[in-house]
Amino acid sequence: MIALYAGSFDPVTLGHIDIITRGAHLATRLIVAVADNPHKMPLFSVQERIALLRDALHGIEVEITAFSGLLAEYARQRNVTAILRGLRDGDDFASERRYAWHNQLFDGNIETIFLPASPALSMVSSRMVREAAQLIVRAGLNDSALDALVPPNVCTALREKFIAKG
Ligand code: ADP
Repeated sequence: MIALYAGSFDPVTLGHIDIITRGAHLATRLIVAVADNPHKMPLFSVQERIALLRDALHGIEVEITAFSGLLAEYARQRNVTAILRGLRDGDDFASERRYAWHNQLFDGNIETIFLPASPALSMVSSRMVREAAQLIVRAGLNDSALDALVPPNVCTALREKFIAKG
């Protein structure tokens, strides 16, 4: 199985890392693809998001790369056999089954594999992390609450980003 795990990873969270670690055990090869979507106005540039993933995934054998355009087309170019997705709750399931069906329409050979989020991480989203970090840094609070959500290098990067932004 050549698996592809794609997302914004803005920034990578412990929830993503959990899915990547488990996916790497299942797949012969796992490609982690960071969406290069400048019109979404990400907090971290695609290069920063890749560097944070690289650091956080140190020791786990995966390819980390950027992609843009249609995911199913990218998957086909890379000879991917399975798209890996994490499911946190029913909302994720509702949207993810639609994406899975669209990807199958585009290329009938691409399967989607869903991994259930680990319970302790099922509330974690990049958006929540960005919002929490901004509030914590602006209020000058101790950022140890972020330790349960993101790896240490991301915690440092968030602090630096919001201090720089003011
Ligand atoms: P987010 O939705 O947090 O912005 P992405 O767009 O980067 O994250 O999502 C990429 C994939 O990771 C999706 O399949 C999403 O459901 C999954 N995912 C995101 N957060 C978690 C989590 N905490 N646990 C498991 N899977 C997750």
